[in-house]
Parts: sequence; C-alpha cells; structure tokens
Amino acid sequence: MKTEIILTGDRPTGHLHLGHYVGSLKNRVKLQNEGNFDKMYVFIADAQALTDNYDNPDKVRENIREVALDYLAVGIDPKKVIIFVQSMIPELAEYTFYFMNLVTVSRLMRNPTVKCEMHEKGMDESLPSGFLNYPVSQAADITLFNTTLVPAGIDQEPMIEQANEIVRKFNSIYGETLNECRILLPDNSICARLPGLDGNCKMSKSLGNCIYLSDSEEELRKKVMSMYTDPNHIKVEDPGCIEGNTVFTYLDALCKEEDFKEFLPEYHNLDELKAHYKKGGLGDVKIKKFLFNVLNRELKPIREKRLELAKDMDYIDKVLIEGTKKARIVAKENIKKFKKAMRINYFDSYDE
Ligand code: ATP
Ligand code: MG
Repeated sequence: MKTEIILTGDRPTGHLHLGHYVGSLKNRVKLQNEGNFDKMYVFIADAQALTDNYDNPDKVRENIREVALDYLAVGIDPKKVIIFVQSMIPELAEYTFYFMNLVTVSRLMRNPTVKCEMHEKGMDESLPSGFLNYPVSQAADITLFNTTLVPAGIDQEPMIEQANEIVRKFNSIYGETLNECRILLPDNSICARLPGLDGNCKMSKSLGNCIYLSDSEEELRKKVMSMYTDPNHIKVEDPGCIEGNTVFTYLDALCKEEDFKEFLPEYHNLDELKAHYKKGGLGDVKIKKFLFNVLNRELKPIREKRLELAKDMDYIDKVLIEGTKKARIVAKENIKKFKKAMRINYFDSYDE
C-alpha cells in the first residue's frame, strides 16, 4: 500500500550544486523511480529565498527557471513529480501565519541551522523577522501537503523537528488534524553535508564555494585543480593527511570502484589510494585529475541535458505552471480541514 507523501524544495538563490545533488537530488530521483508513494512534490522556495534576499528580488526571479532546469536535468520527471513555485500557493502563507502563534521567539532563536546562517549572513544585529520565521514557513510547506517524508541534507534536521513540534502543538489544541513527517538523509554521511570547495563550511549557494551542476567541463577542471588539499603535503614524497582534505572528501562522496578501473587502474579502490597518500609518494595533481574524471563522469550527462532543455524555456514554464496548478488544488482542499480545526470556517455558504 502506498502511503508516502514526499516533499522537498530548494531556494532559488542560484543554480543547484554538488551538495544538492549528493544530499537530496539523488535520493529524490531514486524515490521517484521506485514509485512507492502517493504523491511526490518538489518545489522552488522563492518566498523563503526572499527572507534573506528581499532586497534582491531579481536574483530570486532569475533563478526560478534555473532551478527548474537543474531538476529536469538530474532526472526529476514532471510526469511523476509535481513541481511548483512556493509563492504561487498563497495557502502556504496562511498556514505560516497561524503556525507563528505556536512557536516562541526563543525557540526559533535556538534553531542551530538558523543560528549558523544568521552569523554567516551578518544578521546578528539586524535580523529580519521573516528570516527568523523561515522554519515556521517550512513547517507550513511540509504540513499543507500532508508530507510524510522529506529527502534532504542534515541542515534540514532542525526544520523537521520544528515542523513536528508545531504539528503536535496544533493537534493538541485544535484536535488531530496534521501528521508528522520524517527526514530521509543520504546513506553516506559525507553526502548529508558536503563541504564547499574551501573545505570549511557546507557547500552553499550563498557562500560561493560551489561546484554547480551547470558548470562547464573547463570550469569544473579549474575548480578541482585549485582545491585545497593538505597544506603540509609539499613534496610528492611527503606523507599526506586525508582528514579535512576536501579532494578525498569528494572522492568519499562520489567515487566508485569502476572509476578506478577506468581512470586510475593502478589502484583497486579508495582505501588503497588513501593508504598511498598517507605513506607519501602520491602527488596532489594525480588525485585531483582523478577527482575531475570522477565528477565529470557524473556531471557530463546532467550538463548536456541541461543545455538541451534550456533551448526550450517555454516548456520549463509549462512544467512550472502545470505543477503549480496541481499543487494549488491540493492546497485549497487541505486548508479547509485546517480552518475547520481552527474554528475559522465561519460560513458554510461562503466558498471562494
Ligand atoms: P542557500 O545558500 O541559499 O541556503 P543552499 O546551497 O544551502 O542555498 P538550499 O536551497 O538551502 O541550498 O538547500 C536545498 C536542499 O539541498 C536541502 O535539502 C539541503 O539540505 C540540501 N543541501 C544544500 N546544501 C547541501 C550540502 N552542502 N550538502 C548536502 N545537502 C545540501
Ligand atoms: Mg540553505
């Protein structure tokens, strides 16, 4: 019996990157193809993106179609998945408004992901209340569609917790109406929070430390060749360190045994490569070239499909419009139950 409702989204603050790919997109495509769900939604979180980009609406606007292109390029299929634009479902804003009563400001201030982002964005002194509230708006995204499963990276764990707390509070006050959900993280814990090219923070559009799915082969090569490795690994014969060495982190996230057969046959697997690096005698250029090949094998088909799709932007618009219409039907239906539970359905004969 299919009972799963899957939902997940991305902020249109830039093109999608390798972190999205290993953290969430791969799981989405897998779930989509397994087909064990009632409904699956993927949405472009423009309203959320505006909470910290309210002064740059053009950036958000331009990236709506870019994110949609990334979705289709990685294999999200609009025949199986409803792809929609968040701000075009006004019921989400309504849910958010009522949910805000169920969360204290101090609880929102304790959200570790928000705390970290506030700091990164220099909001310590001037925090927009909309930004502080974005986990509440995410709770609305999740619950409006009766979501049971959210394929996402580890930074979303506090959001799922927050959403479930709101659900419990709502149900305890207004009666059993909403359901809780769970997160689906990637099996490989490195993929749940892929670091950026700088090796410090998570790969994130806002931090400019990304390998984008849309990067050309040359851009990819340049980015990989300029990555940090071990600063003490100066001569080839020096022993090297694996921990915190982002080249190895990306290999841990993505390389398979067949990559060795094809691109680096003198090693059987990553353990052998790591052992040689640690012992000394293995140069950084060699592992970077290998990483480039591993990444390029994965990203080349995506890049090519993306270029092909970009020739027909009317089709992309059509996918978004049709998906949004479908999502809106569900949203309108579900908000009736929500309003009834909250006793704000005053007139039976009033139907918009
Ligand atoms: P922004 O900088 O605007 O917040 P972002 O790069 O963090 O953008 P989001 O749109 O916030 O991307 O995230 C969308 C989804 O991708 C979420 O499920 C998130 O967990 C996942 N994700 C984002 N970055 C990474 C990463 N580096 N590793 C694993 N998953 C990630
Ligand atoms: Mg983010």
